[in-house]
Amino acid sequence: TSLTYEEAIMTLHDTYDPNNIFAKILKGEMPSIKVYEDDVALAFMDVFPQSEGHTLVIPKLVQARNLLDMPSDYLGQYMLKVQKVTRAVEKALTPDGLMVSQFNGAPAGQTVYHLHFHIIPRWEDKPLGRHAEGGMAKPEELEPIAEKIRAAL
Ligand code: 5GP
Repeated sequence: TSLTYEEAIMTLHDTYDPNNIFAKILKGEMPSIKVYEDDVALAFMDVFPQSEGHTLVIPKLVQARNLLDMPSDYLGQYMLKVQKVTRAVEKALTPDGLMVSQFNGAPAGQTVYHLHFHIIPRWEDKPLGRHAEGGMAKPEELEPIAEKIRAAL
């Protein structure tokens, strides 16, 4: 990351930027490969996947940068969607394990400041790609995986 130390520590407590990438995806101003959407959450494929099937789940209706500023009243219904999509990823891709992770602030690994949970399928024999450092996946690679997840929902 190119942030200075002062900028990096600020990322934990700052105001919500309504033009962050995920806000643009929610508004339809940026394309994404969606797997699930309702009035609570949107799930879509991560374009820099750390493994096959790497999916992100973001809350709608809130301007939450991270778990700390997520309104508590919205958290339960959002987490149910994280679980719903995790179950679908497992059913669709039958990994040996699944990492479900979430970062708060740049020093913890956060790069996009709209709350999101990562769902990262893991296989015994496949190493994990590095966070936010892998290559960009092509839509034609992600679409068939997304279709399997949609079918499992
Ligand atoms: P964080 O580092 O904030 O926990 O996770 C942000 C995630 O968003 C990263 O895994 C990164 O690959 C992914 N990402 C960044 N930009 C985009 C984008 O424009 N579209 C999609 N689908 N994912 C993105």
